[in-house]
Amino acid sequence: MTLIAVTKFHDGALLRELAALGVTDFGESRHQEARAKARDLADLAPTWHFVGQLQSKKARQVAEYARVIHSVDRASLADLLASDERESTGTPVEVFVQVNLTPDPERGGVRPQDAVALAEHIERLPGLDLRGVMAVAPNDGEPRAAFARLRSISEAVRSSVPRASAISAGMSNDFAEAIAEGATHLRIGSAITGIRPLRR
Ligand SMILES: *Cc1c(COP(=O)(O)O)cnc(C)c1O
Repeated sequence: MTLIAVTKFHDGALLRELAALGVTDFGESRHQEARAKARDLADLAPTWHFVGQLQSKKARQVAEYARVIHSVDRASLADLLASDERESTGTPVEVFVQVNLTPDPERGGVRPQDAVALAEHIERLPGLDLRGVMAVAPNDGEPRAAFARLRSISEAVRSSVPRASAISAGMSNDFAEAIAEGATHLRIGSAITGIRPLRR
């Protein structure tokens, strides 16, 4: 189980406190903020997880500091993240296929029925290490049911790409349900950091 402390909108001092307490994995959702923190905290060398929606034009820049990108939801984005150089140096970017469990196409994520095809596409690209699937539970409805659905999508992905067995699911309000449905990567913000500042 990997516990990711999601620290968006919090400043570097809080991240240093968390690191001193033993947190090694930080999650961020906005590129500029994440890049600034990665620079500020370079001496701590934590693992950075990018968990927010990712614009294509920012993709390569995010891959410079994030070891893990949880929000790959289209083939064109995966193509931009692919890298022969990272393949040859054995330092791939770890990626998750984000699945949209809502009917709203504006939410990040590939449609559930397209997850396997995207996973197969990523698997063929250099410099990417496909870890599994990721989702955010819909705001309405039962998180357990949503995560059960994610688990079945994970099984479909694994039947095609057996190594891609990780499940990134669970936030402050629904991590218990996510764990019950097999989550391997928890993305926890406010339950660790306290209430988020509105914006920075
Ligand atoms: C902010 C965020 C989290 C953490 O949310 P909390 O409810 O504060 O735990 C997890 N995942 C994603 C994608 C986020 O944007």
